Amino acid sequence: MIIVKSLQEIELMRQAGRIVAGTLQELAGAVRPGITTIQLDTLARQYIQKSGARPAFLGYHGFPATICTSLNEEVVHGIPGLRRLKAGDIISIDVGVFYKGYYGDAAATFPVGEVSPLAKRLLEVTRESLYKGIEKAYPGNRLYDISAAIQTYVESRGFSVVRSYVGHGIGSEMHEEPQVPNFGLPGKGPLLEAGMVLAIEPMVNAGTWEVETLSDDWTVVTKDRNLSAHFEHTVAIMQDGPEILTSF
Ligand code: MG
Repeated sequence: MIIVKSLQEIELMRQAGRIVAGTLQELAGAVRPGITTIQLDTLARQYIQKSGARPAFLGYHGFPATICTSLNEEVVHGIPGLRRLKAGDIISIDVGVFYKGYYGDAAATFPVGEVSPLAKRLLEVTRESLYKGIEKAYPGNRLYDISAAIQTYVESRGFSVVRSYVGHGIGSEMHEEPQVPNFGLPGKGPLLEAGMVLAIEPMVNAGTWEVETLSDDWTVVTKDRNLSAHFEHTVAIMQDGPEILTSF
């Protein structure tokens, strides 16, 4: 069942979303050659705690950190550690918080110093595909209108969408129904209604859409080890259209 939120609940989700956005903003300013991913994790944890929220990923199914940091061929769920960013890397950072009973969830991929033309294009296309999906988040549309808009845009640019990981409903649970795939047929899927809140999150690969999980049981990488990018927003479907709760 897809849980429809009241306006009061959406107001609390706005507050959670603002903390997620602030965290990503802070991290965007810290990403540079030489910084380690665990230093980014510490910055995120401090920001979230200072805001009175709780990191949502820490301890989730045993995840050991506040944020996910996924570099280059890593798609999602990378674990922060002693690895130092270097110029030319791209880093996807996923942030989730729990605040006053509700979750917020967003991600973005950042270039580290100067990156290749391919990496630049992958980031642009992935970010843009997220907005193509969000534009379909209207009451009266169908869920896979969002999915199809993302897939069509990404594939028209020569990239591929990951199949095995998808977006999700979000609210008093981090993962609620429905699943929000980044592929599908327009006009299909559940009817969208005002009050639904979705985490829409295209994961886009430069090469094959296939992925595999490393032996740490967390880090998902592209099967061909080509680059991958990830952008995500928590989006409330309002009477008059989508409202991005995690804008930064
Ligand atoms: Mg998510």
